[in-house]
Amino acid sequence: MKNRIIYLAIFVVLFGACQKGAEQKQNKITNDLKFWTWITADGSRADSSYVAEFKKYKQNGLDAVLINTHTDSKLLARLTPIAKKEGLEVHAWIMAMNRPGDSLALQHPDWYAVSREGKSCYDTRPYVDYYQWLCPTRKESRQHVLNLVERLAKVKGITSVHLDYIRFCDIFLPVGLLPKYNLVQNTELPQFDFCYCDVCVTEFMKKHQRDPQKMKHSEIDMEWKQFRLNKIKAVVDEAYKIAHNHNKELSAAVFPYPEMADHMVRQRWDKWNIDQVLPMIYNHFYNEGTDWIGFATAQGIKDLANKKTELHTGIYVPPLSPKELKEAIVQAKASGAKGVAFFDGSAITDEQFKVIKSFK
Ligand SMILES: [Zn+2]
Repeated sequence: MKNRIIYLAIFVVLFGACQKGAEQKQNKITNDLKFWTWITADGSRADSSYVAEFKKYKQNGLDAVLINTHTDSKLLARLTPIAKKEGLEVHAWIMAMNRPGDSLALQHPDWYAVSREGKSCYDTRPYVDYYQWLCPTRKESRQHVLNLVERLAKVKGITSVHLDYIRFCDIFLPVGLLPKYNLVQNTELPQFDFCYCDVCVTEFMKKHQRDPQKMKHSEIDMEWKQFRLNKIKAVVDEAYKIAHNHNKELSAAVFPYPEMADHMVRQRWDKWNIDQVLPMIYNHFYNEGTDWIGFATAQGIKDLANKKTELHTGIYVPPLSPKELKEAIVQAKASGAKGVAFFDGSAITDEQFKVIKSFK
């Protein structure tokens, strides 16, 4: 009898513990969204100014910073312990295939991507002055990008190397940006179509026995597109190995959802080896409302269903009212995102911080 009472007591205690565990898990789920923000570092700023900035992020509910140091690993090594001390995770943000003003690459004009018009990004920049794309196929340019990834992966304390511009130049711009450039894009325009360099053309011809330079309608040649999707994937998969060799993860800023990324910038991120993707679901760029943030997030989540890759929704904060920002976060969460990343840290207003904090 005494034993039975003891067993019963143990059972009650255990059951209570399980219930508490379940409640905690429930609480964790509701507060579990990870919040990130992208920032661009300035080496001339004092440590104390970064302490203040990171403190502000942490106090307002952010968990991680993606820091662009323009691949300056010393600056990253300086800022990482400061951010970590304030309780933030650090991710090393790198502009991967688009490398404007890269002093080493500029010594090799043949590393740059070439348009269907035959013009190189070395001296002809599509759309904007900061577009200077490297070829992902040519051994040397590809290796240069991977060397930069490794340089950042070696920095102590960072969580991931974060690839940005890991794609081709936009063959189609977001519809909301077209008027700004006074452009109509009903088809693939040759000046925005890459890469037709000797290495890409030769390798494709060897594989598929036709010359992309001579195609009347290159926009409907599926193998030519697939060739380029695979070239970007190959860079990512190699970067993944490098990051993991240094016990770091690999993450990337990508276009809103895989088919859209494929269509606009030849980027098929659901097929990559990568730990986290942060799709830039910037609704205003596409003349969309906050409901579209839910739609695009759900699309990506479905495409990643059988993979370990986490999806964290990227939100462009400047045009959003506090109410819209709240809706955007709710949409991302309801659609299955593991977190939300805000672009960018310096643009988040006090009213917006209040909204972000309210989710924690
Ligand atoms: Zn090329």
